Amino acid sequence: MAIDLNLEFKQSIFHHELLAQKGIQLKFLRLDTIHPVVSGNKWFKLKEYIALFQDGSFDQIITFGGAYSNHLIATAAACQYHNIPCRGIVRGFHGQAAITTTLQHCRDLDMELHFLSRAAYATKNELDFIEELQRQYPGALIIPEGGSGSLGLKGARQINDYIDAETELICCAVGSGTTFCGIADGLQAHQSAIGFTVMKNGSYMQEGIQAQISHPRWRLETDYHFGGFAKHTPELIAFIHTVKRTQDLPLDFVYNAKMLWGVLDLIATDKIKERHILCIHTGGLQGNQSIPSLQQ
Ligand SMILES: *Cc1c(COP(=O)(O)O)cnc(C)c1O
Repeated sequence: MAIDLNLEFKQSIFHHELLAQKGIQLKFLRLDTIHPVVSGNKWFKLKEYIALFQDGSFDQIITFGGAYSNHLIATAAACQYHNIPCRGIVRGFHGQAAITTTLQHCRDLDMELHFLSRAAYATKNELDFIEELQRQYPGALIIPEGGSGSLGLKGARQINDYIDAETELICCAVGSGTTFCGIADGLQAHQSAIGFTVMKNGSYMQEGIQAQISHPRWRLETDYHFGGFAKHTPELIAFIHTVKRTQDLPLDFVYNAKMLWGVLDLIATDKIKERHILCIHTGGLQGNQSIPSLQQ
């Protein structure tokens, strides 16, 4: 299967009564338009790893993810696009017993899948594990889960090329935080950033993120997790339907719907006062396949 990626990332204006009332302009940077199943932020996080592959004498790429991982699928897509052989190491046997749509997409993109017990997967960042993997595949470039690490950060920083000077506030969903750190670190002096953590008790991320951002104007909002990572409520799902119907803007329930809900709530309660806001739509729409009413 050949892959067709749209690498032009545009902005679109979000219309809402509340915004008109408050005199606020809200725009989305549409990293989701890259491809129906590839997350735009993952593409940026992979860019520098791909460049390293191309400069070096590697023969394949290996990376890690769960059975619904946006990162695995983005890696499979990027490798297909650049004609690089790749392997995905999958957490747990769930996807092996009953293949998920995500993993099927990975296979369709020629990623070879290996399934690991959850216990073994938990050791994947340990030196012993990496060394053994490297012994088995001496020519492999091993990319950390989620495309994190300094090269992931460097790639994410390039999202700033699409942020105009008029923008005062950038909003972005936070998983590992790599995307947010990359963007926030590269902001201009007059700009600030809010990261919306999508897991429960997200404030533990504060310190780790602090260490990676030299720009002073950013904060985390940790109250919009809707019960935890990949958890959702009927209200959140109804919100996704409404935004799709009224704005023709598709949102994934794991990241972007939670961010936008948070942004509108903070505007309604005057905790966001900036007039020019840019939300980074990171994509992740393939994840909606796991919710029947959101399948397309
Ligand atoms: C992975 C992902 C994120 C979070 O990115 P991090 O760099 O891990 O914080 C946000 N949105 C989507 C759609 C993702 O797939």
